[in-house]
Formats: sequence, structure tokens, C-alpha cells
Amino acid sequence: MTNNFNDIMIIGGGPAGLTAALYVRRAGYGVTLFEGEIPGGKLNLTTDIDNYPGAPKTEGAPLALAMHTQAEESGAEIVYEKIESVTLSDADGHKTITTENGEYMCRALIIASGSENRKLGIPGEDKLSGRGVSYCATCGGGFFLDKTVAVCGGGDTALEDAQYLARMCEKVYIIHRRDKFRGSAANVERTKRLRNVEFVLESTPVEITGGVNIIDADVVEGIRVKNNKTGDITLLAVSGVFIAIGYTPVTTFLPVGTLELAHDGSIITDTEMRTSVPGVFAAGDVRNTPLRQIVTATSDGAVAAASAVKYLDENI
Ligand SMILES: Cc1cc2nc3c(=O)[nH]c(=O)nc-3n(C[C@H](O)[C@H](O)[C@H](O)COP(=O)(O)OP(=O)(O)OC[C@H]3O[C@@H](n4cnc5c(N)ncnc54)[C@H](O)[C@@H]3O)c2cc1C
Repeated sequence: MTNNFNDIMIIGGGPAGLTAALYVRRAGYGVTLFEGEIPGGKLNLTTDIDNYPGAPKTEGAPLALAMHTQAEESGAEIVYEKIESVTLSDADGHKTITTENGEYMCRALIIASGSENRKLGIPGEDKLSGRGVSYCATCGGGFFLDKTVAVCGGGDTALEDAQYLARMCEKVYIIHRRDKFRGSAANVERTKRLRNVEFVLESTPVEITGGVNIIDADVVEGIRVKNNKTGDITLLAVSGVFIAIGYTPVTTFLPVGTLELAHDGSIITDTEMRTSVPGVFAAGDVRNTPLRQIVTATSDGAVAAASAVKYLDENI
């Protein structure tokens, strides 16, 4: 039976939340973690992972299962309910969590609800996701060695993705709907200096085309782009499409104006993962972090747990 009160509660069972749960239990406090879908978070969307230290060539789902099992065996209570709203403080400093099944209270809260990648919303994008369409160059770039790929976007992430991919790919197109980039001038200059990056400006992606490979799996074969001035549509032959048009941190359950947020909607924390409200911590992709990866999410989760434990020690 689920306890309606616990020392620490965690929203989100991805790498950040599961690691936080493990570290809270190791410190001897009770912890309840809420997961609205399946444990492991975005790990479940990842087929091949080759950049998590100590686990080369692993897959997302088994890593998710291992993290989940380890957290559960440590004594963390895992509840499969979606958080609808939270109240961050009452007179006793308690935090209240509301799900469709009821209310729960805790003394410290860790928010580890991740972020959602923005999509282009064009034909072929969903069908070929994980089959050449990716939202993370650092994660998937290694699979496109000596191939031609496209990056869609005009901010610093898109420019940095193009620079990163140019190191391993034969050619990189960077497709942007305007003639000027939102990214920094220095980043634009660095990208322009790369001989294997071609700028496709004032152009909008309209379709990602696919075919089948030798084992009959769907794979990306190209991207159709429309020139915004002339209306002409061109097909660029590429094996990968990296979409870098932003992300949306998942904070819909937060009451407006309660936590300090960055301009992109991510939760602002200090290096100890403390938010602007005492006893509320954030970890992983939902916070204003410069890198959204498994290794940074697990690291944040461990730090958030240590800070939440310290908060309880000091406030009992
Ligand atoms: C396709 C893809 C491939 C990737 N490949 C790699 C890679 O190779 N290497 C790498 O290091 N990183 C990779 N990443 C990035 C990595 O997966 C993320 O950085 C990491 O999962 C972030 O962990 P997190 O715990 O912060 O968030 P998430 O993994 O997003 O987990 C958040 C969890 O919170 C839950 N949640 C959200 N809202 C609620 C709510 N209201 N109530 C209850 N639960 C809620 C969600 O269901 C989810 O399970 C990849 C990402 C994608 C999308």
C-alpha cells in the first residue's frame, strides 16, 4: 500500500529521478517516486547508447530496467501515477502532490520530470525517429561516420550540433528558415569555417523521406526542403536528420510563478540542485543545464538527493 506521507518525494522516474531515489535510500530516509509512464524516461526511446561510462554499446531499455531495479531494491517506493499539480509549501513547510488518485505529502521534493523535444511536425519525422531521425547529435552522431546528414535549426544547439557532426560525417547540411541565425555570432563563424558544412538558409523542411535497408528496416534517405523565397522544393540525400529546434521542460504541474524559471521554461537551480523554494530541488533535463545526457541526469539526481537529505537533517 502506498504511504500518503514520506520524507522525500520525486516527480519522474528517468535516470535523474531513479538515481535520486537510490541516493536518498542510501542516506536512510524514506522516498516515494512518481512515474506517469514507464520507468527509465527517455532511456526507453534510445536504442544504442555508446557514451555512458562503463557501459559501452548498451541499449536504453535494459539500462532503464537496471536503474529501476536498483532503486526499487534499495527500498524506494515507486508509484505509477501522473502528477497533476503540486503545492510547494504549507505552514509546516510540507509539499503536497496531487495525482488523479489522491494527495500525497512530503517534507522535501525533487523534480526530475525531464523535457520534451520540439518536433518539426512534418511527414516522415515520427515514422523514422530512431531510424535516422534524432533529437540529440551527441547521442546519435557516432552512428553516421562518413555519412551525409542534415541539422535543422538556427540556435546555438543547431550550430554546435553541426560542428560536432562535421568531425565525423562526410558532409553536414544546416537547414534554417531564416537568413540569420539565433545562435551567437562566434558560433556562426566557427560553423562557417568548416569545409564540410553547407548552409541551406531561408528554407523550411517539409518532409523526411525514407526507404528500407538490407534487413528491411525503415531508414532515412533524404529531406525535402522548401525555399521560402522561391517556393522551390529540393531533395537533399542524407542518412540522418538531427532536429535541434528546442525542447520544452516538463513543468505543467507547477503553479505559475512559484519557482524561478529560465527563459526556456527550465527550472533554475544552483550547483546543489536547490531551486528558489526551500526544500524543492530539481535534477536532470528539466533544470537549466548546459548538457542533457544520461550521465548529467544521474549526476544531478545524486546531488539533488544529497541536498534534500541535508535539508531534512537541518530542518528536523
Ligand atoms: C532518442 C533519444 C536518444 C538519446 N540518446 C542518448 C544517449 O545515447 N546518451 C545520452 O547520454 N543521452 C541520450 N539521450 C538523452 C537522455 O535520454 C536524457 O538526457 C535523460 O534521459 C534525461 O533524464 P531525466 O531523468 O532528466 O529525464 P527523462 O529521461 O525525460 O525522465 C523524466 C521522467 O519523468 C516522467 N514524468 C514527467 N512528467 C511527469 C508527471 N507529471 N508525473 C509523473 N511522471 C512524470 C516521464 O514520464 C519520464 O519518465 C537521448 C534522448 C533521446 C530522446
